[in-house]
Amino acid sequence: MIKFNIPIKIDTNGLDSMSHFSSNGIYTKKCSDFLKKLLSSKDLLLTNSCTSSLQIAALLLNLKKGDEIILPSYTFVSSANSFFTFGAKPVFVDIDPYTLNIDVKKIEDNISQNTKAIVIVHYAGVPCDMRAILQLKKKYNIYLIEDCAHALGVKYKNKYLGEYGDLSCFSFHDTKNIHCGEGGALAVNNKNFLKRARFLKDKGTNRFYFDKNIIKKYNWVDKGGSYGLSEINAFILYKNLKKLKSINYKRKIIWKRYLKLFEKSFIKKYFLDTYILNFRDHNGHIFFLILKKPSIRKNLINYLKKKKIPITFHYIPLHKSTIYRKTFKQNYKLINTEFIAKSLIRLPMHLYIKFHEQKKIINEIEKFFFKK
Ligand SMILES: *Cc1c(COP(=O)(O)O)cnc(C)c1O
Repeated sequence: MIKFNIPIKIDTNGLDSMSHFSSNGIYTKKCSDFLKKLLSSKDLLLTNSCTSSLQIAALLLNLKKGDEIILPSYTFVSSANSFFTFGAKPVFVDIDPYTLNIDVKKIEDNISQNTKAIVIVHYAGVPCDMRAILQLKKKYNIYLIEDCAHALGVKYKNKYLGEYGDLSCFSFHDTKNIHCGEGGALAVNNKNFLKRARFLKDKGTNRFYFDKNIIKKYNWVDKGGSYGLSEINAFILYKNLKKLKSINYKRKIIWKRYLKLFEKSFIKKYFLDTYILNFRDHNGHIFFLILKKPSIRKNLINYLKKKKIPITFHYIPLHKSTIYRKTFKQNYKLINTEFIAKSLIRLPMHLYIKFHEQKKIINEIEKFFFKK
């Protein structure tokens, strides 16, 4: 039975000798130090999800009524909802049909007096066009937030993704390349956010200073939530983080095997040629294909399901979501987003998939088209 995703096996060896289980213990520190060094960030907060990291980012922006956040519609709900939850209006921009990342040519028209930040998502771990985005950031003096949920360990030019934003958010959910069940991180690169980020993460208290013996008693000083990661998760995360390079490397090998099988096959003509990914770095997070004819997707998925091959798709464009339409009553037409949402398929992609399984998957897709 082929599985769509098998999270990395966890190593619990040593967990039973732990005595501190809540957040802010030694494993939180080990993970934070590891990521802070990797990303050369000014601070690195370990959190219980990427969603939590995005919420801290939203709180740091001090959003007021009328403030807008620019982001792609083709992404996971948290990229938008974290800012919506704290009062911002999401303004959606279409994606580039080759990278499925925000179309940088379409950002500028959406920038207004009310724009507080641009939130970018490096889809499938493929870098956005950072050169153009950084130019816009500079020109309009707006904040940049990177949703790096897919993108840990990927470089653009000489820096890792997550080094470019004022704030960058990572996920360690078990569907991601590196996981600990659920978890996340917030990289703080803008020094103006350093102090408050710590308060917001720890229930709005200055406990961080207490833990560092700078103050005798901690106090309620800001807004905030309980966003820290439990030491149990941090223990597991640390073991996986140490394998980051080899895990991403293996995933890329698996990803390239798919690409080779696909390129050799006649099925190629039924799909768009979206492989710009070949010349940008990535981490093999997702292997996707885009059907030229979206109308056959349902049949293809059902056919493969009968052959016990799980194929999935995502996302429902956020500008078409129930809450967005109800709240903002705005009619958007985002052509690429809507097309990709209807025509993309994701193939099983995880560390444990065997080459013969990948061959079988491509072979069954061939049979589907052959029969047609
Ligand atoms: C998975 C994901 C998130 C949310 O991550 P959690 O750690 O589950 O909160 C946010 N953004 C994107 C693009 C994601 O894929």
